[in-house]
Amino acid sequence: SWLQICSRLKGEVGEVEYRTWLTKIALGPVDGDEITLLLPTRFLRDWVRSQYGDRLSELWNQVLPSIRRVELQVARPGDPSAPALVLESDTSAVVAAPQGVEAEEAPRNAPEVRSDLVTALDTRFTFDTFVVGKPNEFAYACARRVAEKPSSVGFNPLFLYGGVGLGKTHLMHAIGAELVQRGNVSVAYMSAEKFMYRFIAAIRSQSTMEFKEQLRSVDVLMIDDLQFLIGKDNTQEEFFHTFNALVDAGRQIVVSADKSPSDLSGLEDRLRTRLGCGMVADIHATTFELRISILEAKAAASGVVVPAKVLEFLAHKITSNVRELEGALNRLIAHANLFGRPVTLEATQDVLHDILKAHDRRVTIEEIQKKVAEHWNIRLTDMSSARRARAVARPRQVAMYLAKQLTSRSLPEIGRKFGNRDHTTVMHAVSRVAELMERDPAFAEDVELMRRMLES
Ligand code: ADP
Ligand code: MG
Repeated sequence: SWLQICSRLKGEVGEVEYRTWLTKIALGPVDGDEITLLLPTRFLRDWVRSQYGDRLSELWNQVLPSIRRVELQVARPGDPSAPALVLESDTSAVVAAPQGVEAEEAPRNAPEVRSDLVTALDTRFTFDTFVVGKPNEFAYACARRVAEKPSSVGFNPLFLYGGVGLGKTHLMHAIGAELVQRGNVSVAYMSAEKFMYRFIAAIRSQSTMEFKEQLRSVDVLMIDDLQFLIGKDNTQEEFFHTFNALVDAGRQIVVSADKSPSDLSGLEDRLRTRLGCGMVADIHATTFELRISILEAKAAASGVVVPAKVLEFLAHKITSNVRELEGALNRLIAHANLFGRPVTLEATQDVLHDILKAHDRRVTIEEIQKKVAEHWNIRLTDMSSARRARAVARPRQVAMYLAKQLTSRSLPEIGRKFGNRDHTTVMHAVSRVAELMERDPAFAEDVELMRRMLES
């Protein structure tokens, strides 16, 4: 059952987060309705408790209903089940950053901005390398303005928002690079996750005062991916105070998130209000024209000749975000350099075979629901209804299963499309259908047929 929980968690949090934090957990003793999980350091224990504590309890309770409490403890060599009381008073524990956390955020030969805040800027992300087009020109102009004249009235805070891979982080680094280049300003840039990590580490080493002072001494504070703070109330509170102190002292704040302040439900109201009272700029999805411009710029910088036909082909096929577009082009360029062959349309289709295939099947959840409802002869509205009769529930589960297989939607997103069901319901549907397919060849054939119809 521990393995079951692990694989569920992995599905929910993603491979990277899972490997960074959750593989460090060891099983401890079970005592009545309580199970103990062991972590190698106090830092990790606090982190896992704050991030995954509730979810771990829930999952345990689902898998083993007799378990009602999950206790997180620090493992001690030779004494794995030491009572919590002793561990609490242990002040000798090392505050060790788990491997990978620091490394991930320290790009090569980047200028250090404020060494005490361990912030580094990625030198590739400057205003010069940012390609401007309709979807991002407003955000770009705001970013430039803030870099030229930080703390101007009306531009503080600057709130940048938009979907994944559309250039938020790039613009923030560009602001930082510009400011640092002109000198005389102290800039701190960090992801919200890092902010939280620093905050927890400061609590742990009883240096929160220092941490706050450091934060409040910068001229420009940039926090990336603020949506990470949703549900992290203590860190939000701390950020809110830092934020107020800085703005009151005339310092500049730049924040990014995947949604607008008003749509960031889960952030405290007063924080949302303050975030929205400077300049709010969104970066829209790319247009074909912008994708072409970006590809042209990147191809030119690489020195490899990429025919216009190939650029157009890529801009047509890969529409999701700039990061993927860039990745595809980089692969083409690497290939051309490696084999010394010119880039052609045929070579492109060949080299990018897998990427293109993934982008080809762009089935929507609505299409899946419609096709499945037709096939099993139920009403489309029953895809979101509360009816639980098998004749209705089974096709609904199949539709959820196919949505997971054929779209890149997350479990919660899928759940929402099926009458606001919980992501655990979707997870259950997916494993249930897979199980039935293994047991019942006729059913499996039906589902496979459905899949082929949707894919073509
Ligand atoms: P976000 O933070 O919004 O998820 P990033 O800023 O990390 O996105 O951008 C993803 C990648 O795409 C980066 O390598 C970035 O340099 C590149 N990129 C995004 N938008 C542009 C643009 N307008 N011009 C050039 N490169 C861009
Ligand atoms: Mg980003």
